[in-house]
Amino acid sequence: MVTCKLLARKLCFGAYQVCAAGINLVCPPAIVLAYHRVAQHKGDPLQLTVTPKNFTEQLEIIAETFDDVVRFDAVQLHTARPSVCLTFDDGYMDNYTIALPILERFNIPATFFVSTGHVEHGWPYWWEALSICGRLADHGRILAMPSSEQHKAVHVLLEACAPAAEALEECHPLTIAALQEFSRHPLVCLGAHTHTHPRLSNLGAEDQYQEIKKSLDKLESWTSVRPTVAAYPFGARSPFGRFCDYNKDSIKACRRLGLKRAAANFPGQVRPWTNCYAIPRHLVRDWDGPAFKIQLRTFLTRGYF
Ligand SMILES: [Zn+2]
Repeated sequence: MVTCKLLARKLCFGAYQVCAAGINLVCPPAIVLAYHRVAQHKGDPLQLTVTPKNFTEQLEIIAETFDDVVRFDAVQLHTARPSVCLTFDDGYMDNYTIALPILERFNIPATFFVSTGHVEHGWPYWWEALSICGRLADHGRILAMPSSEQHKAVHVLLEACAPAAEALEECHPLTIAALQEFSRHPLVCLGAHTHTHPRLSNLGAEDQYQEIKKSLDKLESWTSVRPTVAAYPFGARSPFGRFCDYNKDSIKACRRLGLKRAAANFPGQVRPWTNCYAIPRHLVRDWDGPAFKIQLRTFLTRGYF
């Protein structure tokens, strides 16, 4: 019985992959890559950091693979050929100091989704504090807290783990002045990433709307340009949507705010019929060139549930 079920599942998956390959031929996919940090690291339990060397190798492969590198705020993400779009989440300072000079070398544009409260107040990113203090097991507990409680929890954690404060300096957010300079670069596009970086599905509809709106308002006041795109914090979705860091109220808020599109954080390809307020993205890990090439092929050809 188990063998029959397994066989049926494999057959379904195989058929799905054949269909996906057919769709790719008729309708070339766009893929959106999600980065967080580009920096040197000594071990990265969160797997959010790509070293400058590996980032350079990844951009070399992107430059030789794609004719079309599109911006996330472009009119359309998909083109007549397979295309790619680069995005960064959260607003780390190294996006400006390390990633941008490498992007410049290849003339590749990217969109940076900024958690504006972190930029305005210099709040440390709580997930980095957990990682540095070896307390990643607390991730779920802190994720469920309101933002104000998260800051208190991080404060308590850092008091008990003094060396972490120094290590956190290496992954601090952009300052307002740096963000203003950064935003003027022609390869840079900014997007909203809420103000306090909450798990949106923990909030009511109005609070979600206010979080995204405040992020847009702050970015506009600092740069004189109102972003037209956003990304949901965490942004994950399980297959068939049973678990989600965002919900229909998040999508409604983006629509009500007149945004062009919003990025989520689950693998998939962008097609003309993809929901523009739940754009799939592929998380990029610290892969060297050959490993990235293999992943890229999978991102472009594999079907996703
Ligand atoms: Zn984020």
